[in-house]
Amino acid sequence: MVRPERLFLERAQILELNEAMNSPSKLTSERELKSSPLWHWSERLLSFDTVSSKSNSDCANFFANELTTLGFNVQLTQEPNGKHQVVASIGPTEENGLILSGHMDVVPFENQKGWTTDPLKLTLDQDKLYGRGTSDMKIFMAHCLQAFKDSDLKKLKQPIVCLFTCDEEIGCLGAKSLAPRLSSLLGKMPVPKKALIGEPTDFKIINSHKGMVIFEVILKGKAAHSSRPDWGVNAIMPAEKVIAATRRLNEKYHSRHDENIKKLFPDFPFDYLSLVRIQGGLADNVVPDECRMVFSYRPLPGTPLMSVYEELKSELGDLQDEIHFNHLISAPGLVPSLNAEMIATLKAVTKQTDLHAVSYTTDASYFSTQAIDCFICGGGSIEKAHQPNESMTLEHFLRGPEFVREVLLHSVF
Ligand SMILES: [Zn+2]
Repeated sequence: MVRPERLFLERAQILELNEAMNSPSKLTSERELKSSPLWHWSERLLSFDTVSSKSNSDCANFFANELTTLGFNVQLTQEPNGKHQVVASIGPTEENGLILSGHMDVVPFENQKGWTTDPLKLTLDQDKLYGRGTSDMKIFMAHCLQAFKDSDLKKLKQPIVCLFTCDEEIGCLGAKSLAPRLSSLLGKMPVPKKALIGEPTDFKIINSHKGMVIFEVILKGKAAHSSRPDWGVNAIMPAEKVIAATRRLNEKYHSRHDENIKKLFPDFPFDYLSLVRIQGGLADNVVPDECRMVFSYRPLPGTPLMSVYEELKSELGDLQDEIHFNHLISAPGLVPSLNAEMIATLKAVTKQTDLHAVSYTTDASYFSTQAIDCFICGGGSIEKAHQPNESMTLEHFLRGPEFVREVLLHSVF
């Protein structure tokens, strides 16, 4: 006798879910779910180890094949570091198109304690799906594929452009490289003026975020035997002055009051400079000749990124002449996107009434520099991102394709 498949949700729950999502999903059994294209795409995507330090060729080629099959015109860029980015378009060469964007890279999972499932294997347990990239953010791109499959793309009135990037997790480097080339990559297709980036927001609508500057302060000294400190110069000791200067600077940031900014970022309405790493010293018996301090600066959108250097220097006083700055990476903030049509669409589709601002950065940092109004909205939760046992709820997994399809219906059909 064939054992009936275990129902992973009670039928009442499914009906409730479908009603809530206005979804036509009729997946009722685990077997049905696991034989669906959505599962297949998600499973394949998670299986590619696209940690930012590794090649993303297999993942990019997978998208090139799938999008070509769906009728897209696809290009793969070749980045100087060997990575690829996916630029795909479909529909008439009209002005008012829509960009759908996600990043293919994920944060590392090796040596991350707490994983109880294989990070590269999509795993269903109860009402959650586990694996690296479930929330952040491979499954969003599977949602896009499913939405394209469920739509009659021959009837598009405006174009869809997919931008699937690399190296988002190491400073939005892929988007930085792609943004200024969009116009030439798309040829006759006008660059759409609005974008949906499906980062995990629990389907909340984000239209603004902070920027980021990562830099090093390098203190130089002179090595000597630690029994004769008078022969050397200890490079670590002045770090206390840098730390004190950082504290004073953050107090200044804290004392700047702006009611509009408070409304936008109610949780943390300030610029902030964090000392995130400090490294110095070779051995227990050597006066250290170098100390490196890594800082992460998170400015409100609109703050000039490089202002932090002058502000920190002025707090350092005379010490500024003895230190070196090493700029590592930066990404501008997202000044609130105000495209009324897109706001109305996202509010209608998500049934949300408010727009939100967040403190992390996204590829919108760079796409917005090309006069593209960027909105961040997708299934999954930012609290699950970058964590061991990263997950997405089954509800969000099943709701995603319908979310994307409805956004398309409102904006490009
Ligand atoms: Zn992400």
